[in-house]
Amino acid sequence: MNLMSRYRLNVVLSQSNSKHPTRRSLEEALAAALILESGLDVSIIPHLYDLDAQHTGRLFLEKVTGDMVVLSWLYPRAAFWLLDRDGIRGHMGQTQIRSAIVDDEVEPAASESPKGIGPLGPVPDRFIYCLNLNDATDHRVFVEEVRRIAAECRARHEARAAETASKQPTLVSLGLPQTKAETDANGASSDGLVGPKLTPEQLLAPTARRWYPVIDYSRCTNCLECLDFCLFGVYGVDALQRIFVETQDNCKRGCPACSRVCPEQAIMFPDYKSPAIAGAPVGAVGGLKIDLSKLFGGDGADALTQAVVERDRELIADGRAAVGMTVGIPKRQANKPAAPKDELDKLVDDLEALGF
Ligand code: SF4
Ligand code: SF4
Repeated sequence: MNLMSRYRLNVVLSQSNSKHPTRRSLEEALAAALILESGLDVSIIPHLYDLDAQHTGRLFLEKVTGDMVVLSWLYPRAAFWLLDRDGIRGHMGQTQIRSAIVDDEVEPAASESPKGIGPLGPVPDRFIYCLNLNDATDHRVFVEEVRRIAAECRARHEARAAETASKQPTLVSLGLPQTKAETDANGASSDGLVGPKLTPEQLLAPTARRWYPVIDYSRCTNCLECLDFCLFGVYGVDALQRIFVETQDNCKRGCPACSRVCPEQAIMFPDYKSPAIAGAPVGAVGGLKIDLSKLFGGDGADALTQAVVERDRELIADGRAAVGMTVGIPKRQANKPAAPKDELDKLVDDLEALGF
């Protein structure tokens, strides 16, 4: 028996929380096609961003130990770091589906060297691939990419198993019975472990909408400016004085203020309307060659001013006094011009104002 053939890839389809018929139809076509593929363990969970710590879908994800593909209606960067925040870690797998937001003629900034502090916990030896369901309307595009990823993961798993086998004589070769750990190392290592079995009803238990920031630690330099800026107790620091989103649900629904203050574009609000804040590839938005905000007569407010207005609005809604520029404003940013990421943001706001 070829033990390597036991490898199976976990594929998780995260539903949209909008129930939009076009989205539902893509999800259904995709689920139906993936279930027919061999070597995959397919699970369906609600919208990733809305899962709280007790949700069965979240508990399921925490127990999956092998490579994983996550198909969601989120930018890959947002989905990956959202999982990381929940302790579901791995190396970021690269997808070959091109983000719809990246201009063909613009070099994506993926080549930027990471300068962030990196994940706050240990990263297990497995890969997590996050695919954005907004990137194609034909489910076959995703099925094809999952097949490619499955082949990539299987090849990696087999190479690792072969290397392990070549380094140590096994108990089998000595005529002795194997322990469970050795069986795993020789055949179905943690790469190939199948996720825990739960019923679709358990996995798809209803969720409430949530709203909170997600930090991209490949970009975050731990400057703590977000900690100073947020006056609602959302951020905290761990025992090593590293920033983290401590009290997620203290964040004010619909407000993305601190993402405008972060100097590294490391703070994402995955459900926000504009790609730059929702987690689009950094550089793709700022790289647009036409300044569309000028085309539509942007209001000229810089990112910091906009953030302060948004924060004051939430303070007043809470019955507190507005603080304007008097609290938590980094001196470094006081005269900073509008960040490139706000160009598309302004365009979206302007289009909404014009009734598009
Ligand atoms: S402002 Fe941005 S870079 Fe600074 S600590 Fe917060 S998330 Fe990290
Ligand atoms: S959006 Fe506002 S409330 Fe939420 S974390 Fe940022 S500053 Fe705090």
